[in-house]
Amino acid sequence: MPTVKLAELIDQPAAASFLRGVVAGGRFANAYLFHGAPGVGKGTAALAFARALLCERGAGRRAEPAGLFDAPLPAAGPADDACGECPACLKAASLQHPDLRFLFPVSGEERDLDETVAETLAAWREDPLFVFAYEKFASIRLSLTHDVLRELAFKPFEAVRRVVVVRDADRMREDEYSALLKAIEEPGASTVWVLTTARLHRLPATIRSRCQRVRFTPLAETTITAFLERRAGTAAGEARLLGALASGSLARALMLREQRPLELRNQALALLDPALRGIIEVHELWLRDLLRARYGAARAELVNRDREAEIRRQAASLDAREIRRRLMVLEEILRAIEGNVSPDLALFSGLARVAGQHLGEGEWPLHAAGRWDY
Ligand SMILES: [Zn+2]
Repeated sequence: MPTVKLAELIDQPAAASFLRGVVAGGRFANAYLFHGAPGVGKGTAALAFARALLCERGAGRRAEPAGLFDAPLPAAGPADDACGECPACLKAASLQHPDLRFLFPVSGEERDLDETVAETLAAWREDPLFVFAYEKFASIRLSLTHDVLRELAFKPFEAVRRVVVVRDADRMREDEYSALLKAIEEPGASTVWVLTTARLHRLPATIRSRCQRVRFTPLAETTITAFLERRAGTAAGEARLLGALASGSLARALMLREQRPLELRNQALALLDPALRGIIEVHELWLRDLLRARYGAARAELVNRDREAEIRRQAASLDAREIRRRLMVLEEILRAIEGNVSPDLALFSGLARVAGQHLGEGEWPLHAAGRWDY
């Protein structure tokens, strides 16, 4: 079952405290937009926030019993979070609350959609380390969006409000955005929308401007390592390596974990080991040439002058600060090797840092080394 309390969100103090303030305040915007890099906890936070909004002992508590024969009001729980114990909290945590709806990208045939969605929700419910992964062209499907929009005409089934979580909301069609916008702008609506995206710029400005934005930041390397060790049962050495490779994304660390990173690394090192130092030194010479070229050095001053055209081309695409930063990383690796400070780990965390600067939103290279492209 997913982690589903605002108080338990990992390493997002600003977002968590903002959301708890919103829950405690009891006044809700029609739509919230959680944005930030992939795999940093936006989806988990969306579920935790939804649960807090539905909690029968918290923000979802009725002002008075709904009808003459209804049970008396439950005792009050925490004002700024889900209680975690009431029937609404239990249903929300198992993704089975009738007033909590999810939209997320799906691929495949139209006739299989219901089954695909049900399977995804089941996997999410059962696997505490579940990572949403989509095919490149997966999208939030129009028919599923329309199903949800049709429901909005009716009162919520059980709760005082309805919550719709739209995961990766940047994967929608134009006409879906228009329909979504209309729903979001509905005055006095009893629905709270929670949208998440790792590609904020791909959402239409009309949607962005109608949502209350909440920013999520990359996770610390140590946070990811600790999570892997404590919650995912990953061995310490492997967890450290994954933390260094993850570029602040827990989802990325969990996906890399499936690929047996230590084995991959050992294979890579077996190939590299004898030549490792030499390779790094050659890279240093190359970077120094780039730096010289940046400062207008003549051909005769370049060490690798037989590759002058390539050097000029690469130098034009990198600024001097970036070149110096890469040189520093290589220096660090060399120092670590000389000092015998777990050189393999030093190398990989160095590579991860060099590569980290080049990660596009939503795309993760499988091997950091593959991005070492200068
Ligand atoms: Zn509750």
